[in-house]
Amino acid sequence: MKKGYFGDFGGCFVPELLMPPLMELEQAMKGILPSAAFQTELNDLLKNYAGRETPITFCPALSRELGFDLWLKREDLLHTGAHKINNTLGQALLARYMGKKILIAETGAGQHGVATAAAAARLGLSCVVYMGAEDVERQSANVRRMRLLGAEVRPIESGSRTLKDAINAALRAWISMQADTHYCFGTAAGPYPFPDLVREFQSVIGREARVQMLERTGRLPDHVVAAVGGGSNAIGMFAPFVQDEGVRLIGVEAGGSGEPGCLNSAAINRGRPGVLHGEYTMLLQTDDGQIMPSGSISAGLDYPGVGPEHAWLNAVGRVKYEVVCDSEALAAFQKLCRAEGILPALESSHALAYVLEHRESFTPGSTVLVNLSGRGDKDMDIIEKALPL
Ligand SMILES: *Cc1c(COP(=O)(O)O)cnc(C)c1O
Repeated sequence: MKKGYFGDFGGCFVPELLMPPLMELEQAMKGILPSAAFQTELNDLLKNYAGRETPITFCPALSRELGFDLWLKREDLLHTGAHKINNTLGQALLARYMGKKILIAETGAGQHGVATAAAAARLGLSCVVYMGAEDVERQSANVRRMRLLGAEVRPIESGSRTLKDAINAALRAWISMQADTHYCFGTAAGPYPFPDLVREFQSVIGREARVQMLERTGRLPDHVVAAVGGGSNAIGMFAPFVQDEGVRLIGVEAGGSGEPGCLNSAAINRGRPGVLHGEYTMLLQTDDGQIMPSGSISAGLDYPGVGPEHAWLNAVGRVKYEVVCDSEALAAFQKLCRAEGILPALESSHALAYVLEHRESFTPGSTVLVNLSGRGDKDMDIIEKALPL
């Protein structure tokens, strides 16, 4: 495949002035990342700081009800509450090896901002987080967390004042700060080499899960399911299974309220190809190519695009991408709380909801592995409004 491309998707559509830091990053990926020194230090951070490896948990009550074996990969147990720390520790460490002093990052709901701020603090780097002004207002708890961790939060007033505008602002800022700054991008999207870099750091999820399933069940899972926002937890889970033809892979996009024509975040199912944030991928857009606002009860899935590797895995049919709406995700959230004593993030609840809502499409006795990308404590305000006790 052409470098930086997944079939037709991907690429590096950025202003000329951003090419030098992206090329420097590509060199670091080739030179530093595979070195024994880097890998040893990263593995130590993942194990002794972030809490890897995460377990896989069998769900006895749900499995009995469903008639097939449901397993969860427990990324919710990680430091800062989700898989995002796998990527931010990797990129922060790489930045330090590259001699950078500052991390910049975009954030929407604030989860990637918090994970970047934590990694920066731990590794002695300064941190500036670009966040849409609208998101700063509605995600004030995460803004406070970032500030406590020593990060500066810069509200962005342009456009829709949300994630899309924060990414544009961070890319623009990187042009003038590139000598001492690394842009810690939050998902497996954006210009090359970010989709490859983020997949590399998140693939620890699938590598562990593959070995754990073999150890615990004696074989590979029949189905692997993950929620898809930008696509980092899903590609991290899927990548080590892509070569295993017998393993069916299912990505779950957020369908919003489910009303016809409602706001949604299902870029693969409801979008068309186009260019955004430096990549050619599937995007929610109007007939004349304007990016449409996205929407979901789950802030972490609320993005109008998707990483290019997912666009390609869909095009070649290796992964099936399905849509789950807000109410189905909420029902799955409540079900997992009651049945297994686990409060999942609303993002992860979308993946679980697909399994619960389509139980008849899974063969009795088969094994289904769901990536539980994060914990739900951050979603309590939304849950309280939607599911009054
Ligand atoms: C951010 C987030 C997601 C969505 O991002 P991806 O890059 O698609 O993984 C999913 N789950 C949780 C818990 C998140 O915080």
